[in-house]
Amino acid sequence: MSDRPAGRLHVLSGPSGVGKGSLVAVVRRRHPDVWLSVSATTRAPRPGEVDGVHYHFVDQAEFDRLAATGALLEHASYAGASYGTPRGPVLERLADGVPALLEIELQGARQVKRAMPEAHLVFLTPPSWEELVRRLTGRGTEDPERVQRRLALAREELAAEGFFDTTIVNDDLEAAADRLVASMGIT
Ligand code: 5GP
Repeated sequence: MSDRPAGRLHVLSGPSGVGKGSLVAVVRRRHPDVWLSVSATTRAPRPGEVDGVHYHFVDQAEFDRLAATGALLEHASYAGASYGTPRGPVLERLADGVPALLEIELQGARQVKRAMPEAHLVFLTPPSWEELVRRLTGRGTEDPERVQRRLALAREELAAEGFFDTTIVNDDLEAAADRLVASMGIT
């Protein structure tokens, strides 16, 4: 047993397109000591995404094997693909006293809270619904049917804010990063 204090697990969630990825990038730039989990997913890489860096890109059989063997802390289907957080690396970082950050969708956030009630859940919300629609439709990398599915999910996700410990409005990226870091207790 280590006598170092365990690190805290922070979970950033919110609708797709709200800017979770951009926010996490700012926090990581300012605080390289914050460890960010790399998820497994069955969706295809987008241009510029690197296997093992942005995601572990796996096929459905491999994903199902990871889920069935308990290797995922949480997992969910989202817009036609599977996503999950590898359990081992998270537990290792927490045991080493390193703050760990997950950037995941809502179903996964609920699973984490159930498995680890001490986890800190942060909900990132857009300044307005119109702004979220603009962001989701403006990305231009998804087909229209996929965008519609994401919008329907986003509506449900926005209604879940009350489940979270902290809400952060993503009106300005740097200011939102300040608020996220403060809520994580990092100075
Ligand atoms: P994208 O396909 O745009 O990268 O991600 C789609 C959604 O899946 C985003 O809301 C993202 O936060 C979420 N996501 C990414 N990794 C995981 C994961 O490991 N578990 C869960 N539950 N959601 C994830």
